[in-house]
Amino acid sequence: MNRILIAEDEPRLASFLEKGLKSNGFTTTTVGDGVSAVLLADDADFDLIVLDIGLPGKDGFSVLREVRAAGQRIPVIILSARDDISDKVDGLELGADDYVTKPFRFEELLARVRVRLRVEGTAETTVLRAGEMALDLRTRRATVDGHSVELSAREFTMLEVFLRHAGQVLSREQLLSHVWGYDYDPGSNVVDVYVGYLRKKLGRDRIQTVRGMGYSLVS
Ligand code: CA
Repeated sequence: MNRILIAEDEPRLASFLEKGLKSNGFTTTTVGDGVSAVLLADDADFDLIVLDIGLPGKDGFSVLREVRAAGQRIPVIILSARDDISDKVDGLELGADDYVTKPFRFEELLARVRVRLRVEGTAETTVLRAGEMALDLRTRRATVDGHSVELSAREFTMLEVFLRHAGQVLSREQLLSHVWGYDYDPGSNVVDVYVGYLRKKLGRDRIQTVRGMGYSLVS
């Protein structure tokens, strides 16, 4: 199992990252300031650090500088609130492995986490399957009963989330945060709308409504 250190001071985002990573099989430890991040990063048991730039105490750049100065090769993915190219360049020059700009969708971060850990030797599935459905993550093609199905980017991500959790019940909130991101209005009905789109394309019975709880992909 991979252990991830999350350094993020914004409680809502920290909990979004924690929940998402845990539901994908990672173990997480969260800190809300830069000093604790440096101390914990010293613990060689972590496999990856998700590092916010705007941290109290010591910012993400300083944390990264100290981690690298201590000779730690651990993969670091930087989170920044600003879509500022100089931030990105600074981060990468200091030895960050990747960079995600807020707001981001969880799947976007997850893909980067997986890439970094794969470089470290973890195998990753490229085709997800359930019953007669298959989703090829490299070619971005979906097939149902052997026929190719055209999906929009959002539909594709939603089906990917369902397939990664086939047979489990996913709440609207989980689907919102996985597919749309943590800053999406929780009162929105986009999840129901997109489940409707997917049902039209995949067949009505493949996604069940679990009353009062959410949706479940029939595996
Ligand atoms: Ca912050």
